[in-house]
Amino acid sequence: MKRGEKRILFAASEAYPLIKTGGLGDVVYSLPHALHARGADVRLLLPGYRALLRQLDQVRILGWLDVRGAEGIVGARILETRHPDFAFPLWVVDCPPLFDRPGSPYVSASGQDWPDNAERFAVFARVAALLALDALDTGWQPEVVHANDWQTGLVAAFLADQPARPKTVFTIHNLAYGGYFSHSDFVRLQLPSHWWSPESVEFHGGFSMLKGGIVYADAVATVSPTYAAEICTPEFGYGLDGLLLSRQYKLHGILNGIDTGIWNPSTDTHLPAHYSAGRILPGKRRNKQALIAHFLPRADDAVLQAPLLGLVGRLVEQKGIDWVLAAIPVLLLETDARFVLLGSGQTLYEQKLARLARQHPDRIFVEIGYDESLAHLIEAGADMFLMPSRFEPCGLNQMYSLNYGTPPIVFKTGGLADTVVDANTATLKDASANGFVFDTPDVASFLDTIRRALALYRKPAQWRKLQQTGMRQSFGWADSAGHYLALYSTPVSEDSHVIHIT
Ligand code: ADP
Repeated sequence: MKRGEKRILFAASEAYPLIKTGGLGDVVYSLPHALHARGADVRLLLPGYRALLRQLDQVRILGWLDVRGAEGIVGARILETRHPDFAFPLWVVDCPPLFDRPGSPYVSASGQDWPDNAERFAVFARVAALLALDALDTGWQPEVVHANDWQTGLVAAFLADQPARPKTVFTIHNLAYGGYFSHSDFVRLQLPSHWWSPESVEFHGGFSMLKGGIVYADAVATVSPTYAAEICTPEFGYGLDGLLLSRQYKLHGILNGIDTGIWNPSTDTHLPAHYSAGRILPGKRRNKQALIAHFLPRADDAVLQAPLLGLVGRLVEQKGIDWVLAAIPVLLLETDARFVLLGSGQTLYEQKLARLARQHPDRIFVEIGYDESLAHLIEAGADMFLMPSRFEPCGLNQMYSLNYGTPPIVFKTGGLADTVVDANTATLKDASANGFVFDTPDVASFLDTIRRALALYRKPAQWRKLQQTGMRQSFGWADSAGHYLALYSTPVSEDSHVIHIT
């Protein structure tokens, strides 16, 4: 180990490209790599899901740990592996009864939370805490444990009372998912009895794993400065706003970056044509052709000329899908716009989108499911990107679309507010405009903003300027990784009594 390298154990429940359900997976791939590139000595700890284990080639057994589960002691085998997509070792918690099952990390095939999620992630957190104390005597003890979201919320809680423990950092990627479980789960898992208190993890008659991270971590981060402020208010706080307000001294808003090695229109391997800010049009047009051809093999020229509005994302209320569903019929009547939508999520939204596509097969292109390659093609081939999230901790898709010359249309919230500058007379003049922002959360404002975007689209010179502004902005990880490294290096005691909304 080189001198000065910070040893960081990064614990999370998903990581691109091994297992990903959303933006968390992207961040858990990119941030540790950005830290590694800056000299950090990283290990990434993941649960041994079946889909993940199948992708591992050579593994070394680091050792075995026995921890308390719901029905008694659970044995976990800790594997170490080098994976070609990762520049640092992966550590995997191999515990077949909890993780070796088909499908999603969090839900069953019918979309219900796995019934033993409390046990699965309590065990994962216990193991993470033990590894943080080098319980296996590997000779590698981290100086920092960085846990992410509710699935790892208890890591800092398990470590809190331990002497000679590493510093704990907890990042909230989405406060909407609190890891709420019942009192009987609390009892069955034999969690420390002093945790059953409103000052600790207890939450409205049950307990919250996310709350554990907020209460016990030495530093709490969330993924944009605006979201860091929003979650301290009742509107965005899910009942945790009071707690977060009281912990503002250790709360940091650090904007996520995007991985420009993977999301770059001049090199993207998913695209039939490449382009860059200096020369956008020919490449973008070919991607648009390919995207339309994916759905409509014999599209005529009118389809190619018409504006194409794209959306990629989880089909849940957070993402404003109901606003999109309400806006589309109006726009079909008023304009010649086409829509291309990729997502999966709530069955009702999936069905409504599929029905719209069946009713208007030449104007609405819908794919229900998860398709990494199509997501890239939509970012590149659409003319504008719809992201009217009601709340958005950071959001990656709007940054991808900015990078791909596909101006985003967003609601002014969280990371969307921090990254998208609305096109108006002043911002177009000073060349800071990169997209479209509405600030009243309703369909009428969303529609007005789309109309403004469609009007500007008809002015090619101004549109190109808008595209270029987004494409020339830097959304890489350098700044964010620097902020995290600074956070890791701040002695715990010095964190107190300073309000950090960086
Ligand atoms: P969130 O984390 O709330 O889901 P983000 O915008 O931060 O939203 O990140 C979403 C990530 O997941 C992006 O990389 C996006 O491309 C990807 N994604 C979401 N849904 C799909 C899908 N159906 N197919 C492919 N990629 C998807």
